[in-house]
Amino acid sequence: MENVINFGLGEPDFETPEPIRAAGVAAIGEGFTHYTANAGAPAVREAVAEKLRSRNRLSSVDAESIIITAGAMGALYLAMLALMEPGEEILASDPGWTNYEGQAILVGGRLIRVSAGADLDFALSRAELEAAAGQRAKIVLVNSPANPTGTVLRREQLEEIADFAAERDLYILSDEVYEDFVWDDAEHLSIGSLPRAADRTITIGSFSKSYAMTGWRAGYAAGPTEVISSMVKLQENIFSCASSISQMAAVAALQGGRGLLAPMLDTYRDRRALALELLSEIPGVYPHRPAGSFYIFADISALGESSEQFALELLEQEQVVVVPGDAFGPGGEGFVRISYATDQSNIREGMARLARFAANRSAP
Ligand code: PLP
Repeated sequence: MENVINFGLGEPDFETPEPIRAAGVAAIGEGFTHYTANAGAPAVREAVAEKLRSRNRLSSVDAESIIITAGAMGALYLAMLALMEPGEEILASDPGWTNYEGQAILVGGRLIRVSAGADLDFALSRAELEAAAGQRAKIVLVNSPANPTGTVLRREQLEEIADFAAERDLYILSDEVYEDFVWDDAEHLSIGSLPRAADRTITIGSFSKSYAMTGWRAGYAAGPTEVISSMVKLQENIFSCASSISQMAAVAALQGGRGLLAPMLDTYRDRRALALELLSEIPGVYPHRPAGSFYIFADISALGESSEQFALELLEQEQVVVVPGDAFGPGGEGFVRISYATDQSNIREGMARLARFAANRSAP
């Protein structure tokens, strides 16, 4: 199709900032192009540990408790492989990011969907966790800020999850790839910084979203050293190590820190405000106001269609891409995910088309 407005993107539309690209080029120029240690180059592990201590308040983390991976996906996969025996369960919110289920299946485990609907602000609750957990539950997956809903869990919600995990002796996998994308007065809190969760949490982070580095494939996990050392052994047999070049670029990203992030975050903030304002003017489309990430989960059920049908017809009639909510589990039915990782002119044009489409739908 031509002339498509794409609100389907799950990645930043920015270029990787120049100092990060320069560090990658320098790594190549200096011949830093060989295997690194399986766990990652020592300087990179140290830089990530320092970031997690100072920004995420994971006070007991050191370089030994870090593994550098091929994106957060590498970290999530290695963690599930290290922790889960065949048939064991990982509890994750419904709706939730699609790839968790694929990875659980790959390691012979099962993903159990824990209902976290709009009435709960799409947050995992203790009551729903208890209702869903079976005898073979092993891991609770926490994704805050969340894809696709943007939900940012508050301290008391994280404490509930930590208490549940401690009582049931479960690990917590905390996927924090959207940690920098928090809006209004929301704050990102790492569940691993809570005393009850500290010794059972594997914190997973990434350079992909914050620093517009999706193609570099750089991420990490931090957690109990016995879990990390299992992940390191598995990494030897699967990936060997994360790209040496990307590891050097990741250090430059951490050194640049807020200075590199701030201009991009300001742009996302403006886009979010614009997208929410325009959406709020469309009868029949009700955006759930997201506190985090760069997605808006919008309720389209008043327009009387399945979310898949809605997305297909919107594409065919108006050439606008959104992701049907049921792609993220049955709990996403009736919603579509709109990514605002695209510029303001696309947002204006796409919303005008969406408004026309919705008006045609709701016409008698
Ligand atoms: N976790 C979530 C919730 C995501 O949405 C994504 C990418 O869309 C990832 C992890 C993957 O991140 P990475 O590029 O670091 O593998």
